[in-house]
Parts: sequence; structure tokens; C-alpha cells
Amino acid sequence: MPIPKVAIVGRPNVGKSSIMNWQAGKLVSVVDPTAGVTRDRVEYMMHHGDRYFDLVDTGGIGIVDSDDLSEDIERQIQFAIEEADLILFVVDGRAGLTLLDRQVSDRLRKVQVPKLVVVNKCDSIKTDLEMHEFEGIADGPLIQTSVKGNRHRQELMDKLVEMLPAAASDEAVRESKKEKNRN
Ligand code: GDP
Repeated sequence: MPIPKVAIVGRPNVGKSSIMNWQAGKLVSVVDPTAGVTRDRVEYMMHHGDRYFDLVDTGGIGIVDSDDLSEDIERQIQFAIEEADLILFVVDGRAGLTLLDRQVSDRLRKVQVPKLVVVNKCDSIKTDLEMHEFEGIADGPLIQTSVKGNRHRQELMDKLVEMLPAAASDEAVRESKKEKNRN
């Protein structure tokens, strides 16, 4: 079974690259305070417990023109439709729900891939309390994180792994090895 892919999707500046680097534990994706930085798609294989997965920061797929963010988002979603086993839909807990978040939300509703909403920039308990604003933006659970405050990294990993498609069982792996040996 191929390694599952987890696509990080969301409007610019919510912290997609920051989450990628935070989870990877090193700098693999560009973090920039200005929206619309052009960069390539970044993919990083990692594991949590006994599960392996590819984390993909889709934020910079293609040329990002800050006047046409919908095109950037469309590219992210297209990738998620074609390749992802799980979508991390990232929003900004400090900025609150924006028009662009709603557009991503509407677009994702039609995508038949499990979704986990990540309310990032929840740097303090105060931001945690405002999370209800994001309820219902995707048909999936919500989790709060703060890369800056290093909050809930473990919870995000646990939830992500829990939502991955089931791994091939040891039995199935043994069977496929036997099958190969017979041929
Ligand atoms: P992307 O465009 O969605 O990939 O966002 P980036 O990862 O480039 O981050 C955009 C800005 O948000 C940068 O200035 C980050 O340092 C900042 N940022 C990312 N995560 C957090 C967080 O948890 N809290 C705060 N306060 N800022 C954050």
C-alpha cells in the first residue's frame, strides 16, 4: 500500500508552511509574512508511532499571484482531490473566519477526502475561546494549534494518524510476501 498523503490546504498566511516545518521538526518549507510567496510544492515523509505518511504543503503550487488567490487555492484543492488521503484545512484563529476561508470551505465541501480543520495561531487560551466561529466550516473535527507557542503538536499528530486510511495489516503484508516468493 502506498504511503498516505496529507495535504495542507488553506488561504495564504494562515501558517501552512510553519505547520509543515513544525511537524517535520526542521525547515522544509519557506515561511514568509507576506502572502503570495512563490515556491514549489513541498513534500516530506514522516512518521508518528508506527504510521508513515507524506505531509504536503500545497501552498506554493504554481505561480502565486496575490491578485488572484482563487487560482492558488484551486491548485491546492486540485492536488488534494487527485492525490490526498487526508486534508488539513488550516485557518487563522487570531484573524477569525475570512471570506477567503469561506471560499476554501465551499470548495472543499465537494471533495470526498476526510478533513481535519486546524485552527492555527491559537497562541493563548483567549484565542482558544473563539474557536466556535470555525465550527461547521468542514465536515470533520477541529483542532487548535499554535506553532509560535508550540501548543498541541502531539494532539495534531495523534488526530492526523487516527484519520489516515487503515494501514495494511501485518497479515496482509505476510500474504503478499508469500505470494511474491511463490512467483
Ligand atoms: P502560509 O502562507 O499559510 O504557508 O503561512 P506561513 O507559514 O508562511 O506563516 C505566515 C505568518 O504567520 C508567518 O509570519 C509566521 O511566522 C506566522 N505564524 C505561523 N504560525 C503561527 C502561530 O501559531 N502563531 C502566530 N502568532 N503566528 C504564526
